[in-house]
Amino acid sequence: MSKKQRKAVLSFAAAEVIRGYFHIGEHCAANRCEQIAALGGQFRGRKIRVLHVIPIVTAHASQQSVRVGAEDWWRAISALHSCGLTLVGSAHTHPNMGIFMSAADLDAHGKLFRDGVSIVVNPQSGDAAGFGADGGAISLSVAKTHSGAKATGKGKHRLFANGKGA
Ligand SMILES: [Zn+2]
Repeated sequence: MSKKQRKAVLSFAAAEVIRGYFHIGEHCAANRCEQIAALGGQFRGRKIRVLHVIPIVTAHASQQSVRVGAEDWWRAISALHSCGLTLVGSAHTHPNMGIFMSAADLDAHGKLFRDGVSIVVNPQSGDAAGFGADGGAISLSVAKTHSGAKATGKGKHRLFANGKGA
């Protein structure tokens, strides 16, 4: 493993919120436009812990873009701070598209959470991947729950219930 390898670990609850809000694995009107959520958590060395997900329902979305106003980010950041968490990244969808970081994605990442993670998800297929500020990969996984619920996925790409290998 490269010493540069970074990883993001989502709590089971955080992964469930993303799966639900993005309608992963469904073919419905709701996931035909891009969707985005702020990710709250903690930085732990090379590890990013994602503990809280705030869907940004006021984002202006189309099938190929999503824009979030500064005041929406500010609201999400304040909400996270009030529970002792930091903005550690975002998750957004690429409906019926590949998993990559667009120029706009990289720009927003650099401005908002330089050391954080951008999770890009194709909501129809469930494919997902994490990226850093330079567009490099950040591995994603979901933490096991205390209750002993099944961990999602043996492979790192099977993040969400309907995820397939990327
Ligand atoms: Zn994007």
